[in-house]
Amino acid sequence: MNIPTNHPRRASLEQRHALEKGLNQGIVTPTGMIAFGRGEAFDYLLGEKTTNNAQKACRAAAAMLLLSRHAVLSVNGNTAMLCAKNVIRLAQTTGAQIEANVFYPPVKKRRALIARHFEKLGKKILGKNTSKKIPGLASNRSLVEEKGIFSADTVLVMVEDGDRTQALRKTGKKIVAIDLNPKSRTAIAAHVTIVDNVVRAVPEIARHAQKLRNKNTEELEKIVAAFDNGKSLKEALAFMKKRA
Ligand code: ATP
Repeated sequence: MNIPTNHPRRASLEQRHALEKGLNQGIVTPTGMIAFGRGEAFDYLLGEKTTNNAQKACRAAAAMLLLSRHAVLSVNGNTAMLCAKNVIRLAQTTGAQIEANVFYPPVKKRRALIARHFEKLGKKILGKNTSKKIPGLASNRSLVEEKGIFSADTVLVMVEDGDRTQALRKTGKKIVAIDLNPKSRTAIAAHVTIVDNVVRAVPEIARHAQKLRNKNTEELEKIVAAFDNGKSLKEALAFMKKRA
């Protein structure tokens, strides 16, 4: 598909196109396309730009990832197709692992396809050898790798279902979320939520992480402590209401 460079909705059309490609490859599911459409509506209200509010959340997320002993960036079909290269960059900047973790079937096959997608970009990721379960989640959607999400102290989730975010939070892990809907269960359950499109937020967290990497633990802890997720979500919603 050729999208004119000056098309006003170029970024959004490129994302749609990437997901359609993922759908044909079996990486993205029809439900993923619906979730994308929900996100697009919220992105429209944001003006398809990273707000100051999201910037602050990206900085807190970067500090949280840098403070972690073992952080894992959880990727699903949508995020693999939308921002794999930037997820790899974020993993490199923060020392985090990447794990394929999907909600909708065929779970095993899609995890393998996502891992192959990252391998083609030069990055080996986790998600194929799942022997552990996230407690409180039914079915094989709860399966995770022992040396990945299961033992992580911090997990970054994006375009994630609320059930899983809530179950992950209950295990005592720190949760960073990227979700365009400030009212979603994922946005509310996370410790740090970035209300922004993954396409813009992931490179933005990496940029902050690059700037914060030489800060000491105390300085990073101060950044995290100063962040109030409830207040930040209210600000994001107020921004959208003003534009609606
Ligand atoms: P919840 O279960 O958390 O209450 P939900 O039922 O909408 O919310 P999903 O269907 O799994 O959960 O949706 C994933 C979430 O991801 C939605 O809130 C959607 O707005 C958001 N989303 C979709 N596309 C993007 C994107 N490109 N960047 C960031 N967030 C997105």
